[in-house]
Amino acid sequence: MTVLVAGAGPAGLMVAAELALAGVEVAVVDAAPARFPHPRGFTLSARSLELLDRRGLVDRFLAEGPVVPYGMFVPGMGLDFSAMETDHPYVLGIAQNRVEELLEEWLAELGVRVRWGQEVVDFTQDADGVDVVVGDERWRVSHLIGCDGSRSLVRKRAGIAFPGVGATSHGLVADVEADFDALATGEVFVLPRPGYVRIVLEEPEPRSGPVELGYVQELLNARLGREVPLGRALWLSRFSDAARQAESYVRGRVVLAGDSAHVHPPAGAVGVNVALADAVNLGWKLAATVTGQAPEGLLQTYHDERHAAGARVLRTTRAQSLLAREDLSPVRDLLTELSAVANKHLAELVAGVDTRYDARIPGAHPLLGRLAPNFEVRSGGRSTTVAELLRPGRPVLLDEFGGMLIRPDGHVAWVADPETLPAALRTWTGP
Ligand SMILES: Cc1cc2nc3c(=O)[nH]c(=O)nc-3n(C[C@H](O)[C@H](O)[C@H](O)COP(=O)(O)OP(=O)(O)OC[C@H]3O[C@@H](n4cnc5c(N)ncnc54)[C@H](O)[C@@H]3O)c2cc1C
Repeated sequence: MTVLVAGAGPAGLMVAAELALAGVEVAVVDAAPARFPHPRGFTLSARSLELLDRRGLVDRFLAEGPVVPYGMFVPGMGLDFSAMETDHPYVLGIAQNRVEELLEEWLAELGVRVRWGQEVVDFTQDADGVDVVVGDERWRVSHLIGCDGSRSLVRKRAGIAFPGVGATSHGLVADVEADFDALATGEVFVLPRPGYVRIVLEEPEPRSGPVELGYVQELLNARLGREVPLGRALWLSRFSDAARQAESYVRGRVVLAGDSAHVHPPAGAVGVNVALADAVNLGWKLAATVTGQAPEGLLQTYHDERHAAGARVLRTTRAQSLLAREDLSPVRDLLTELSAVANKHLAELVAGVDTRYDARIPGAHPLLGRLAPNFEVRSGGRSTTVAELLRPGRPVLLDEFGGMLIRPDGHVAWVADPETLPAALRTWTGP
């Protein structure tokens, strides 16, 4: 039976490709008539690049934009990414819609085409499958993955609660044609982009409905105390600092990934990256579940691992968002001083490079649960790398360095101790 993915954003495309790579029949539908051609985000983190590297894709992405070895934890507090322990000690500047196009290309190479303009409108699940209403069609599928964004219908219809902290501040994003120099006075956040500028403005009172250019102009004039005329609007949107997380990422045969499972303040610009990490953690586990090869409870470890990782993202982005407040400048100054000694820790936290999962076997090796470093190894009489061995998306057992079992998502499941190898294999690869 097919696995159905609702939503062709970064989460949906990546998880569908991972399932296709594992030989599982998968379909992807998206309610929108076509990919929205305008980017929301502009960055890929070191962890995303490491994961893409383990599927042989990273060069396609690196060809798209500059890599920058620094970033910002909060305004005024820089991060030096070159201190991170990774093959990719930088952030890649790449428009989100290009990330999606490249993932969609890879998915097509694996034989799956996105069905645009097809909306998941309802579903019911039973012990053996899920009946899904897609537009005016009815599908019977083995699992439904909700990658349908922050307002996820899949999450709501599955009855999965979305607890967290409501919005305390509201903002507007306006991508408009305007004079960058006239705007870049330090009074509003403004980012130059080819042919337009991105303006981010705080909204004094929350409003709903579509954002009008006249309203943006009004808020901008009030903030600047003068008028900088705005030209054509390319994209106008709202955001807030709400931080919420699905109480369960897996409910029976319904699974959530990406923004459908978590929303957080935009500080840090990590949403695409967290979505990709969810998808790579989920893909092989769901594939093993669908093909009947999964050890007991494997799919539940997706919830355990990614819910914990998501909670850290919420905590970090909330801290970043709060620290940007005017009245917290003394705390910010103090942290800026401390960041000189904590730079590596913070950089690896923000980039997701420090992600560590519970290996579920006894052992204290520092690599257990972490992404396996990209060692050079010999395999089949030739020299290769860990990243290359992981390209087919299968587990890898190395007999070099005392031995290492690596999960298909690149995380280390076992190191060196012959006594715990049977337990590690039973836990992660099944009989
Ligand atoms: C202004 C802004 C700037 C950002 N900057 C960055 C950045 O620099 N770096 C970064 O990492 N992140 C950034 N983000 C966050 C990032 O855009 C999101 O976290 C990311 O898009 C989440 O991916 P997703 O696949 O979970 O969901 P989405 O990208 O939201 O995709 C969901 C898809 O589901 C479809 N859909 C919805 N309902 C249904 C349905 N019922 N049936 C079928 N399809 C459906 C939608 O059409 C959509 O295509 C930014 C966000 C904003 C708003």
